[in-house]
Amino acid sequence: MPIPSIGAQDDLCGCAWTLKTGSAAKDLRIRCQMDIGSESKPSTLRELAAMRKLFGILSFMLLFLMSPVYSLSRDTGIAGSKILAGTFPVYLFARNVLSGVEGVEVQLMLPSDMGCPHDYVLTPADMEKIRGSDIFIANGLGLEEFLGDPLLRANPAIEVIDSSQGLEDVILMSGHDHHHGHDSDHGPGHSHSQAHEGESGHGHAAEGHRGELDHSGHRAPHEEAKPMPNPHVFASPRMAARMVESIAAALIRLDPVHADIYRKNADAYKGALMKLSEELKVAAEGFKSRRIVTHHAVFDYLARDVGLEIVAVVQEDPGQEPSAAEMLRLVRLIKETGAAAVFTEPQYPSRVGETIAREAGVPVAVLDPVASGPGDAPLDYYQTVMRNNLETMRRTLGRAGN
Ligand SMILES: [Zn+2]
Repeated sequence: MPIPSIGAQDDLCGCAWTLKTGSAAKDLRIRCQMDIGSESKPSTLRELAAMRKLFGILSFMLLFLMSPVYSLSRDTGIAGSKILAGTFPVYLFARNVLSGVEGVEVQLMLPSDMGCPHDYVLTPADMEKIRGSDIFIANGLGLEEFLGDPLLRANPAIEVIDSSQGLEDVILMSGHDHHHGHDSDHGPGHSHSQAHEGESGHGHAAEGHRGELDHSGHRAPHEEAKPMPNPHVFASPRMAARMVESIAAALIRLDPVHADIYRKNADAYKGALMKLSEELKVAAEGFKSRRIVTHHAVFDYLARDVGLEIVAVVQEDPGQEPSAAEMLRLVRLIKETGAAAVFTEPQYPSRVGETIAREAGVPVAVLDPVASGPGDAPLDYYQTVMRNNLETMRRTLGRAGN
């Protein structure tokens, strides 16, 4: 008698196939007996099938228990979970979205006064925090270069929420206008870092610098700089509102028990951020000059969204002071373009910006991109800081007609 084709076998007698389909038992019994030459009875097969089924259920339960956010139960949701925010802005956004949800701990990984983690390498203390957390909330777009392999080595089960996930109008930086140390040529293996479209440099796996960078972080001369996403989305209230939506959507997916709270919090916070964005836009329309110089490329989104023009940045590579020749070029550029002010940032020394402003004969002031702040910052800290920025710009850039 010809043996019917029953598909791939994954054990000697093909019984695994029976368990998957629950059909063709008769043919399988024949095949079983022929293959093994045994006198297996149908009842033995049924017992085996039952055992395998039980084993399958147990395996599934085990996998579920070992899954990243095992503490998210159907009844209690996120209670008992530990959430780790990578940077200060997402820490603030996450706390707003999670406001009123009981039993969840939100921690900031980096020191709250550190600012942008460009070229940051995880410390043993960070690794410990990652190991003890269920969820990691990232800014994304390559701001955290430790996302990917270093993060997953510390905690392979951690669930990563990428708050820049789904942002469509990301600004790309190219040529000299890039952050060093980034490379979009990442191989696979960043499963926890949700992919962005196109050139978004997600899931950076670099620990320190990659091979093509010399140890100061500069690209080798032969290497053509690839466009990189500007990761400073948080410093524009409009983009911040969309990050808040990404965080809320991810939390709703992970913890549907508290969906109503996340939705309500996110909508209220997004509303406040969009109102702030509108205020900044209206104010900027009234500035005597809208051309400015900033410390690093942190305000590109804010400038785009409210109508300011950044003619140059003091530090093209964050943390790298410009040379004397670059400073002279900046002074010339300010004079040529009529830029009205140089803005420094609280997270970086202001000396170079002050020198350039003095040489160019323009005012200098501090604008805070909310990249850092107090660890116990009130929930409306972002709005407070941005309104201070607005007053600073009004003072520095003047009002049209004055
Ligand atoms: Zn930065």
